[in-house]
Amino acid sequence: MKADAACENTRRSEPICAGGGRRDTTVIRTLTTQVLVVGGGINGAGIARDLTLRGVRVALVEKGELGGGTSWASSGMIHGGLRYLQKDPEVTLHSCVDSGNIQRIAPHLIFRIPFLMPVFRDDAIGAELVEIGLEMYDRFQSFKRGKPHTRLSREQALRLEPALSPQIECAFTLDEWGVDAARLCAANALDAADRGALVRTHTEVIGLLREAGRVTGARVRDGLSGEEWEIEAELVMNAAGPWLPRVARLAGLEVKLRPGKGVHLVFERRVSDLAIYATGIDGRDMFTFPHEQNSMAGTTDDDFYGDLDRMETTEDEVAYVLQAMERSIPGIRHHRVCHVTAGVRPTLFGFGKYEDELSRDYQVIDHGERDGVPGLFTIAGGKLAAYRLMAEDATDRLCAKLGVRESCRTATTALPGGEAPLDVAALSRRFRVAWPTAVRLFFRHGAHAPRVLEQSAPTFGAELATPTPSIVCACEPVTDAELVHAALREGLRTLTDCSLRVRLGVGACQGASCAAAAASVLAEALGWSAERAAYELATFLGERWRVATPVLAGAQIAALELHRAADVGARGFTRADRAGHGGEDSPRHGATWEGA
Ligand SMILES: Cc1cc2nc3c(=O)[nH]c(=O)nc-3n(C[C@H](O)[C@H](O)[C@H](O)COP(=O)(O)OP(=O)(O)OC[C@H]3O[C@@H](n4cnc5c(N)ncnc54)[C@H](O)[C@@H]3O)c2cc1C
Repeated sequence: MKADAACENTRRSEPICAGGGRRDTTVIRTLTTQVLVVGGGINGAGIARDLTLRGVRVALVEKGELGGGTSWASSGMIHGGLRYLQKDPEVTLHSCVDSGNIQRIAPHLIFRIPFLMPVFRDDAIGAELVEIGLEMYDRFQSFKRGKPHTRLSREQALRLEPALSPQIECAFTLDEWGVDAARLCAANALDAADRGALVRTHTEVIGLLREAGRVTGARVRDGLSGEEWEIEAELVMNAAGPWLPRVARLAGLEVKLRPGKGVHLVFERRVSDLAIYATGIDGRDMFTFPHEQNSMAGTTDDDFYGDLDRMETTEDEVAYVLQAMERSIPGIRHHRVCHVTAGVRPTLFGFGKYEDELSRDYQVIDHGERDGVPGLFTIAGGKLAAYRLMAEDATDRLCAKLGVRESCRTATTALPGGEAPLDVAALSRRFRVAWPTAVRLFFRHGAHAPRVLEQSAPTFGAELATPTPSIVCACEPVTDAELVHAALREGLRTLTDCSLRVRLGVGACQGASCAAAAASVLAEALGWSAERAAYELATFLGERWRVATPVLAGAQIAALELHRAADVGARGFTRADRAGHGGEDSPRHGATWEGA
């Protein structure tokens, strides 16, 4: 993404001062576009891409990092959802069909997840009934290149996965697919930007512009520079996930959701190469599953009434998940959990049902039709697995309003990197990077991987160019070239965003070993001052600490404190370390890290 890619399809005006009922801050510019998309989660990014493919001018603003809301915190499964089959077969069908589409357009970003579903003698549902459900699910498998289930005897299952509980009666296999959800969001947004859209992270919609009752755009604030702009748009699409009621309220409208919080425990490495079903104390289905270099366990689904911007995982939630996993994998507590993730599903409102029973369907709301407020649309609910289809539906509705007749091409047009396969061994030899580094780079960038290694070093400046990219984060692994690429070509704006964009610091050391090196690479690439680099480092480590604390116990606390003391304290960042939590070194409100 070009820095400020915006501007190709937008017009700048002279600075104006916003007065009248709004905050009396200077609006430094006004941009004009056809559709403003609010939210860079999977739905917003998917809609922005679809619109640009149909030739519509778009601006996409995201208040944090792309995918940093619910999308990244999901289980990342592009599955039909076996448990929706009974009550929501349409959702299962749509998700399976769209999973097939996602696999076609982003083959580099997906990975197969073979599942084992153990059946215990005292389970509420016996093996015969389970098998009937799986036979039904088999009918959907071909849409997503899935294999039909098989039934394994107790001995066969234990041979396949010795970590399973010996108490099982038998087990079933089941075939699913996973995706790097944050990278999928980024790929959609980056493709939109390459096609001329403005894509801007850390940019929050703080007000909606109105003219004679119609929504005509939004006022946005850059969270890093403090700048405020206005973006005039013919249509505004509210794709703010669980925050969408808040955005709708800016126009005086109510959109009701039933937000459901879900947490995952992330293990420092694979517990098993298979996903393993587990049952919670309350009978809920959960699982441990391989996800990229790690394993994850989860998830919960609890009504959420708290502050979406201050969501924490509780020790109770951790205990609930571990208890469930322990029944299927008795040794699970011997594996180290290195951090947690938490997100809130933007589930459609329903009353009088348990969270698990709520529909995973979605809605596109035209507020002109529903509330007499034209110019504003909202997309709510749904699943990551069906995002492309939901985006197609929403984009059809927007295009109908704009009079655009182009049809959708997102099911057949590859996402960046998905255009062709790549010889990873040749990549490894050509750039002298180790095989695992080449494999992971290909996973994130697909056919564009050579471009990442080729382009970044020279752009970075001849004196800094290194013939061989060096490893910054060994867990993933991430090279300096990839960080430079993200900064200069993908519009990455903070060190903390690297955890989502390239999975920096999500492994065993939680960033203690790589953060300083990564901060220094980004400081060079983005021209950060020493003070800014120190702030970024402290914020990044503060965030890794925040997501590690709910699972810290015993010797782990000492180990992490030692890491922090060695990597943070000794470098003199201890005071700034509090900055991430509003300490004395944090930038004051309106401070300009990225000066206008
Ligand atoms: C624990 C959990 C597990 C899940 N697992 C799966 C799964 O395995 N498979 C599956 O298909 N689905 C899964 N889901 C559901 C799926 O993750 C969501 O349906 C999907 O990610 C929602 O995407 P979204 O774009 O609507 O929301 P988000 O990803 O939340 O995107 C909305 C974005 O809007 C931004 N925003 C908010 N307000 C503003 C503003 N004022 N200005 C600018 N930006 C703003 C936010 O920062 C956010 O990034 C799971 C959900 C959870 C919570």
